Amino acid sequence: MLFRGMACKEQIRFFATESTAIVQTALDLHKLAPAPALLLGRLLTAALLMGAEIKDEVSNLTLNIEADGPLKGAIAIYEYQGKVRGYAKKPDFFDEEVKNNWNIGNLLGKGTLNVIKDLKMKAPMTGTIELQTGEVAEDIAHYYLNSEQVPSAVSLGVLFDAEGMIRSAGGYLIQQMPSANPEDVDKLMLNLANTPYITDLLDMGLNWEEILHKIIFKDMDMSITDSYPVQYHCSCSKERFADALRLLGKDELETMQEGITPVCHYCNKQYDFSAEDIMQIIQSLNR
Ligand SMILES: [Zn+2]
Repeated sequence: MLFRGMACKEQIRFFATESTAIVQTALDLHKLAPAPALLLGRLLTAALLMGAEIKDEVSNLTLNIEADGPLKGAIAIYEYQGKVRGYAKKPDFFDEEVKNNWNIGNLLGKGTLNVIKDLKMKAPMTGTIELQTGEVAEDIAHYYLNSEQVPSAVSLGVLFDAEGMIRSAGGYLIQQMPSANPEDVDKLMLNLANTPYITDLLDMGLNWEEILHKIIFKDMDMSITDSYPVQYHCSCSKERFADALRLLGKDELETMQEGITPVCHYCNKQYDFSAEDIMQIIQSLNR
């Protein structure tokens, strides 16, 4: 579930989500090693939180981390009503240390976080920042402060069990509006400093309503305005792949005359384009 709400006389807004099943699905689909699972899990959770402001069916949000270290990066895409998908650029990169310290920034190295908000009505809004720590949450907070001038507190967590399955995953995004009372912000920062890891709280069986009311916004006015389910969902189809093939043009398509079997990066589904399918696509270009 994803929860949206306001606090402190509507001068602080928040988004909070549990993403355990989504991160487990990503891990299973892409057979992720622990470090890329941490990276993609955090990025998918961030996409859920950042996408919560999207309210129409055609808009979407893309987060792309591109880095020069061995972990390379990951992509996560949010679509309408809590649907996310993504992939890690080095899904099988294995690092012995990551299960001891949970740090991935050193494995990413130098790089960028690119945010694309495709709101369809006008040209996409894009913002790019240099990675700060590479641990994702700090990078998202830095993006909001520098590209959108919105002070934000971000937490993203992925917790594994001993067998390498996802025990819990989730996070929050809390944003300060321009006329927020500084005393309220101080109180919130103190509460956040005293908040244990969200993944531990979720793992202990607390739900988000309890975490928000009793811990993060303890002794503060706040209300959850709405909530909705979230899921890992890929919207690929043979038609979409055919559209992409058309963009390659006739010359390129003629090299594929025996047929091809492209695989979706996001869900690993394979599509079969026979020699006849390719011929039809070429013919459709000639019309
Ligand atoms: Zn797909």
